[in-house]
Amino acid sequence: MSYARRLAEANGATPAQIERTVRYNGYPLPAGRESEERKQLWRHLGALSPEAFTEPVTFEGDEVVARPLCLRCCAGQVGRGRLPYTGWVCARHRRWIGPVQFDVHGLPALIAAEQRFRRVLAPRSVVVDSPVYRLAGQAAGQAVERACLDQRAQQLGFDAPPQELLVYPETVRLACLITDSRFLDVAFTRSPEQQRVEFVTAQVERVLAGHEGSWLAVNPIWQMLHLMYARVRDAELRGGLVADYPWGITRFWRG
Ligand SMILES: [Zn+2]
Repeated sequence: MSYARRLAEANGATPAQIERTVRYNGYPLPAGRESEERKQLWRHLGALSPEAFTEPVTFEGDEVVARPLCLRCCAGQVGRGRLPYTGWVCARHRRWIGPVQFDVHGLPALIAAEQRFRRVLAPRSVVVDSPVYRLAGQAAGQAVERACLDQRAQQLGFDAPPQELLVYPETVRLACLITDSRFLDVAFTRSPEQQRVEFVTAQVERVLAGHEGSWLAVNPIWQMLHLMYARVRDAELRGGLVADYPWGITRFWRG
């Protein structure tokens, strides 16, 4: 939708005018906004690759959210799209691409986090805003100290950047941990609870080394693993599939 608008505007027209004209000229264009004929038309008008507008709506059961695209990638125009293999940073322009966009040149840790997202999380089909990503974000938000958040905001040069941006490095690290099959192997293998708590605590603290509050991130992650452990045992008993709503965590586990 936003591509059609931008291309039409660049040619001094509106998408509706262009579509009326092509219909008038006999091009079959159904009314639906998401129709294949419509995507085909705009791919053709924009001389785009056949892969354009074929981004998946879901990825392994998680919704690939439609979100604002990088303003600089779109030459200053507002555009929306689905970016399944991208975290919250346009690495090319060093911009945070959340609902409000920020220049993040001042904080190289965000660029490194984005690279980690693409290298580790994207191949595991983890998408932003999925339940497992949000869990990592919630845990990170509890662990990172106020002083660290303030310092990052100062480095960026903005008064009140969103917390999600400030804890992005820790969010990505924790998401990498809880979608790591070796980590889940240990967490889901039959063993005394105390042993599992100690393992999870040690792993979370290792990933968040340097943060005094790292232990605060353990609880939300442990709650999920504890519930999933019970469901894994239940599935063993009943011989069925593991119920893993809402996190879809078992797909990361090859146990
Ligand atoms: Zn960009």
